[in-house]
Amino acid sequence: MSRRTFTMIKPDATEKGHTGAILNMINQAGFRIIAMKMTKLSAEKAGEFYAVHKERPFYGELVEFMSRGPITAAILEKDNAVEDFRKLIGATNPAQAEEGTIRKKFAASVGENAIHGSDSNENAGIEGDFFFSKLEQF
Ligand code: ATP
Ligand code: MG
Repeated sequence: MSRRTFTMIKPDATEKGHTGAILNMINQAGFRIIAMKMTKLSAEKAGEFYAVHKERPFYGELVEFMSRGPITAAILEKDNAVEDFRKLIGATNPAQAEEGTIRKKFAASVGENAIHGSDSNENAGIEGDFFFSKLEQF
């Protein structure tokens, strides 16, 4: 599992038509897509996915945002996938994201920040399995 990470292109980026450009950046950075689907989270499912943030003041806003429109979920493969993908997406707050990162290019704010990336190998596995059966992971 250490060569895999999980990502979601969030509703803001979907609405703005950035899905194709973001997938292109992901491929250009050397990640192989081994599972992918466009889907929409219910508020309940979004809450479950981000349950770790339940006690944070922005949780309600986060759940509402993540369930307001379609997302693209994908499992990605590359050496050092989790760390390298966090570098590619950039800081949570786009104002602090480095030049050339996905969030610098496409994120509007700390809340609506275009893309998710797993923060550990363990979570990459849990999050990938949240969206994809083993039969859908290539
Ligand atoms: P993600 O888990 O989506 O990849 P992250 O790991 O960079 O993002 P987290 O701290 O896990 O950041 O926060 C999860 C998500 O919650 C953020 O991506 C953002 O959409 C939202 N969020 C985080 N902090 C804030 C905040 N201060 N105000 C509003 N929304 C926030
Ligand atoms: Mg996170």
